[in-house]
Amino acid sequence: MSSESNEVMIGLEVHIQLSNLKTKLFCSCSNDYRGAVPNSYVCPICIGLPGSLPVVNKKVIEFATRLAIVLNCKINQKFWFFRKQYFYVDLAKGFQISQYNKAGGRAFADGGKITIKLNSHKKDIILNRIHLEEDPARLVHKGSIATSPYTLVDYNRSGVCLIEIVTEPVISSPEEARELLKQLKSIVQYSGISNLDLEGSVRVDANISIKGYERSEVKNINSFKEVERALRHEIIRQKNLLKRGKPLIQETRHWDDKRRITISLRTKEFEADYRYFPEQDLVPIEIDNDFIQKVKNELPEMPNERSVRLRRDYYLSEFDSDNLVLEKDIADFYEDGVNSEALFGPNEYKQYCNWLMNDILRWLNEHNKVLKDTKLHTHQIVDLIKYINEGKITTKIAKSIINDMMNGFSIHEILEKKGKKRISDEKLLVNFSNEVIDANPKIVKDCRENPKAIEALIGRVMGKTRGQADPHITRAIMVHLLKEKGII
Ligand SMILES: [Zn+2]
Repeated sequence: MSSESNEVMIGLEVHIQLSNLKTKLFCSCSNDYRGAVPNSYVCPICIGLPGSLPVVNKKVIEFATRLAIVLNCKINQKFWFFRKQYFYVDLAKGFQISQYNKAGGRAFADGGKITIKLNSHKKDIILNRIHLEEDPARLVHKGSIATSPYTLVDYNRSGVCLIEIVTEPVISSPEEARELLKQLKSIVQYSGISNLDLEGSVRVDANISIKGYERSEVKNINSFKEVERALRHEIIRQKNLLKRGKPLIQETRHWDDKRRITISLRTKEFEADYRYFPEQDLVPIEIDNDFIQKVKNELPEMPNERSVRLRRDYYLSEFDSDNLVLEKDIADFYEDGVNSEALFGPNEYKQYCNWLMNDILRWLNEHNKVLKDTKLHTHQIVDLIKYINEGKITTKIAKSIINDMMNGFSIHEILEKKGKKRISDEKLLVNFSNEVIDANPKIVKDCRENPKAIEALIGRVMGKTRGQADPHITRAIMVHLLKEKGII
C-alpha cells in the first residue's frame, strides 16, 4: 500500500467556456453575458422552467469537433446527454445537462494528447476525454464569501456551453501542469472557439496524489495562473502529513486564492450521488464523416504548424518560433511588423523577435495587460531596430523608452522630448572621460594593477551622460587617455 517514492500524480479537469459562440448551449439567449444587467439574458430553458425543452446549438458540435481534431481525440459519432443531479442555488432545475461515459453513455471524444516541452524535454500528456456540459449560474457575494450577508444569483451564465478536458493522472509536477495549460490555451485560441483571457472563462479541478496514497480533489481553481500555485500548496500539504505519519484521506478541497491554501470541503463524494441518467428531452446526436471532414478542411493554422512556418519564413530558431506562436496576438503582431518593412532580413527578423519576446512581453506581464490594451504599433519596433542599427541610439536607450512606446509615442517624439540621443561626438566624449579620470584618482590607480578597473571609469562616463555615450567609442577613448598618461 505505502510507497516511499513520493512520486506525484496529477490529473486535471479543465472547464473552458466556448465564449466565441453567439448563443448558449440549449437556447437562443446571448452567450455574451459579461457586463450585462443580471438576469437579463435568460429564458424558460436556461432557468429550467417546467415544460421548457432544450435544443442543441449546432455550432457547439462544430466547435467541439474542431477541438477534438486538434487534440487528436477519437470522436464518438453517436452520443447523448445525461442529467447530473445535484441541488444548489446556481442550478435552478436541480440537474445539470452533461455527458457521462458510463451506463451506455459516451463522452464527446476519447483520448487525445497535448505535447509539452519542459527543460527541452518533450512529454505527451495523454487525455482521457473531452465532453460538453452547461455552465451553472454565477453567484455574487458582497465582499468575501465568508462574510457576505447574502448571495446574489445571476442566471445570465446559466446554460453557457462548457467543454471539459480531462487528462489522465500523468502530470508529475506543478511545472508540467503550467506548461500543459499554456499549450492548451494556445490551441484553444488558435482554433477560434474561445477567448480564454475573459474573466471566468476557465475553471480547473485538480486530482492530486502521492503514488500509493488516497487522492484529493481541489475544486474551482479560477485561472490558469492559480493552478500551479494550488498544486504546489496541495503537494506540500500531503507530503507534510505523510512525514508526520498522518493518514491521507480521499476528499474534496477548495482553493482559497486569497489565503493561498486548500480547505477541506467534504470527505465523501461518489459518482453514484449524482444519479446520472439519460436526458430524455434531447435526441441522441449523430455526427457523420462528411461533417468531420468539412470541419477538418476548414481548420485554421494551429500553433505547431505556424511555428514550423515561422522557422522557414523568418529563419527563427525552434526555441524562438515555439515561444512566439504561443500567444496568437503576439505572433500576429510579429508577422505584421516584420512584413511591413521590405528591407528586413534574417538579422532584423531575429531582432524583432527578441524585442517582442523580452522587453515588450516583460512590460505586458508587469502591467498585467495584453497587446491590444496598449497603443503599441508594429511600426514602432521597426523604427526602434532601425535606430539601433543605424547607430542613432544605444540598446540601453532603446530599453529605457519602451514604456513611452507602449503608450503610443513614436521613437522620434520620445527622443525629442527626452533629449536622448546617442553621443558619438569624440571631442565631447574626451571631455567627459577626462572629467571622470580627474574625479576618480583611486580607480585610476587601481587600473595599474587591475585592467578590469577601467570598466568602472567607463561606467562613470555612461552615468554622466545618462546612458547616451556610445560605449564602444567611450572605451576606445578611455584606453587611449590612460595609455597617454602612462597608467596602462
Ligand atoms: Zn435561455
